[in-house]
Amino acid sequence: MSDIVNNLFNIQTKIEEAKERANVSQDVQIIAVTKQVDVKRTVEAIEAGLQNLGENRPEGLALKLEAIELDACWHYIGSLQTRKVKQVINEIDYLHSLDRLSLADEIEKRATKVVKCFVQANVSGEESKHGLTKEQVLTFINELATYTKIEVVGLMTMAPNTDDEQVVRQVFRELKLLQQEVEQLQLPYAPCSHLSMGMSNDYEIAVEEGATFVRIGTALVG
Ligand SMILES: *Cc1c(COP(=O)(O)O)cnc(C)c1O
Repeated sequence: MSDIVNNLFNIQTKIEEAKERANVSQDVQIIAVTKQVDVKRTVEAIEAGLQNLGENRPEGLALKLEAIELDACWHYIGSLQTRKVKQVINEIDYLHSLDRLSLADEIEKRATKVVKCFVQANVSGEESKHGLTKEQVLTFINELATYTKIEVVGLMTMAPNTDDEQVVRQVFRELKLLQQEVEQLQLPYAPCSHLSMGMSNDYEIAVEEGATFVRIGTALVG
């Protein structure tokens, strides 16, 4: 049994335990973040059954798309420079880092189909993090009404890098409240039913708080 199969089994077990602990029942999809591993390792991940793969650089994505013929669902999880949009946007299935209108404009111009996007929120307000403040998220999503190539499938955040579980949990909880607020608006272009939150160190907390996509690198393929 490859170590990835083993890691995946352990993570799936922990996800199920987290769901039971919190008494929640959402489907949780695992995105294998392959940004730090090579093509060979990425192929191993797909062969281990991981369908969702995450990259955060246009170059890394291009390299893997070119070398890998197996079917996979590609998630772009990094901040995306406007000038790199044309290189990336028609190669991916999900964008997790929509955070500004200039990026939306460029997507509108370059995308040949509707792109499933997560709006990235910076719930903790840490300056080093990308994303919109809680207050900005609703305004921003309202402004997306006229864009024909953007579907807001959910919200994404990164928790602060801290050992304080309560701080992390609070961030995830606030993202979920915000997601529900948008979902209740029933905007046709923004169903916003998904939550992309949780990484190697905090995915169990994220699942307890309602994550539907967790993005895991180190603990899975690292
Ligand atoms: C690298 C990265 C991850 C995965 O981080 P790990 O700690 O290795 O699991 C998840 N999300 C984003 C946005 C990342 O850049």
